[in-house]
Amino acid sequence: MTEPNSDCLFCRILRGEIPAKKVYENEHVFAFEDIDPQAPTHVLIVPKKHIAGLKEAEADDAELIGLCHLAASEIARQRNIEKGYRTVLNVGPGAGQSVFHLHVHLLGGRSLGWPPG
Ligand code: AMP
Ligand code: ZN
Repeated sequence: MTEPNSDCLFCRILRGEIPAKKVYENEHVFAFEDIDPQAPTHVLIVPKKHIAGLKEAEADDAELIGLCHLAASEIARQRNIEKGYRTVLNVGPGAGQSVFHLHVHLLGGRSLGWPPG
């Protein structure tokens, strides 16, 4: 179990200490616009519980990780981008993870190349 982290950017957003453009919220997850969007839709979906990243997730976190993805699919439906979108978890600095509170990127609204860089 990872405790809430007072220094964590996304915990601070969850506490309302840093503003964010909220997109979606339920009991377990919160979603907001990425500050530096890489696609017409670029939303971050985070569990309300602080989990540093996928590497640090435990078996008890499985439902939360699934709920983040289901929130992404709901947002994609609402935004009418179901022709093609991508959910991404960057895991570790070598993959570009810069915020160590697990988050699912939802990217869509443009064609998406494969493989990603
Ligand atoms: P990652 O690099 O996978 O850890 O993703 C972190 C994401 O957080 C990046 O896409 C950033 O643009 C985004 N980000 C950083 N600060 C903020 C913020 N204050 N509000 C919204 N998104 C942010
Ligand atoms: Zn956090």
